[in-house]
Amino acid sequence: MAGQKTYRWRLGRVTLAASVLLAVVFALGAWALLHEAGTIRRLAGDTRTALLPGMLERQRAVVNIERLKQYGTAVLESGESRVRQDTVVVFSYLVNHPALQSDPETAALAHHAAEIVANLAKARDEGDALRAAGQRAAADEAERRARLEWRDTFTALDARSESLFVSAGDMGTRRAQDFDGAASHVEMMVGVSYVILALALVCGGVLVHQLLLKPILLTTAALDREETTPVKLPPSAIGEIDLFYRSVERIATALSEIEDAHRQARAAQAELRRLASIDELTGVANRRWFTAMASRELERCRRFNHQLALLMIDVDHFKRVNDTHGHAVGDEVLKAFTRVLEGNLRSVDLLGRLGGEEFAVMLPESDETAAAHTAERLRAAVEALEFPLEDGSLLRITTSVGIAILAGAAETLDNLLVRADSALYTAKRDGRNRVAVS
Ligand code: GH3
Ligand code: MG
Ligand code: MG
Repeated sequence: MAGQKTYRWRLGRVTLAASVLLAVVFALGAWALLHEAGTIRRLAGDTRTALLPGMLERQRAVVNIERLKQYGTAVLESGESRVRQDTVVVFSYLVNHPALQSDPETAALAHHAAEIVANLAKARDEGDALRAAGQRAAADEAERRARLEWRDTFTALDARSESLFVSAGDMGTRRAQDFDGAASHVEMMVGVSYVILALALVCGGVLVHQLLLKPILLTTAALDREETTPVKLPPSAIGEIDLFYRSVERIATALSEIEDAHRQARAAQAELRRLASIDELTGVANRRWFTAMASRELERCRRFNHQLALLMIDVDHFKRVNDTHGHAVGDEVLKAFTRVLEGNLRSVDLLGRLGGEEFAVMLPESDETAAAHTAERLRAAVEALEFPLEDGSLLRITTSVGIAILAGAAETLDNLLVRADSALYTAKRDGRNRVAVS
């Protein structure tokens, strides 16, 4: 097509690009949320299978270390060798408890403590033997080192127990922090998603407005108006919308041209109708129009059995007017004559020029008396007319009138006209300037 532009934007591409962008953004958001949900599920699984058993293991180790401390103290403090020996046995069993053996450092400490406790029991037995022999000082000396060793071991066990207890707590705290971090991520992503959703809604609204509502509103406003000046719509970067605008402009131009042509045709028709029905010189109905209207009126009166009269009016010796004062004056006299007739008739009466200086008047709802009265009024008015001539003198004319009254349902307009004409002939014959009834 000539003058077709190449547009940078196409409606299909714009909406496709917007949809793809939206889909990508939502897919990314969904992927990030699912990823974070996976992290939370993994943390929960690890807590169940590794973290909680690990914490339990440490707690059991703490409990057993406390027992070791109790048994060792019992060996230190018990006065009976037998009790001490039994306690050493229980101690050495307890050392092999899985909760203590699972951690190499704790296991080494427990084994070391078992040796120290065994040494302590042995030193206590030796001390008891020396005391029995009365060597109290030697007995105290024999036990002193073993007691000191146990005190060191007790302190080491205490520290280990404390450390295990604290590390179990740390594990729980760290895991709680992991959950906290994951929850913060989810919160942030939900927030970002809602912001993106709100932006997408705004962008969608703008697109719908630009691509749909604006073109509809602009074209509706452009087409819904009275004036016929050309419609002008703004250029659009979107190819299809621009083509749509240009098409609307062309349609609007074509519509206003069609409307103009219609208006001209209607005016021409009205003028033709006027020319076809009006006598140009006098402005009253011509013969054709008078015949049409009179036929209709006659028909109506016959149907309802109403009275009707027809007058035939002719200017007397009009030829003389033309001959004496010229045709142009004759025309003006005819016009003045017509105004006099019009001024003396009712609005329902129908006046027409049948030709030359001959006129007809149809008088609805008029009997012979009323018709004669009207005819006489017209005659007298014409007689009273004074037409000023250029030389300052006044021209007077007279007129003769023939009357025919509707006689019966069978009477036609032609019939009526013939009877009125013959009455007119009678009036002329009887000397003119008079009224005669057929
Ligand atoms: P009568 O009393 O018997 O009617 O005599 P008359 O002279 O009026 O009758 P006649 O029929 O002999 O003459 C009519 C004249 O009317 C003839 C014609 O020149 C004139 N006439 C017809 N139409 C027009 C017109 O439109 N303008 C002018 N100025 N004269 C017209
Ligand atoms: Mg005449
Ligand atoms: Mg005549």
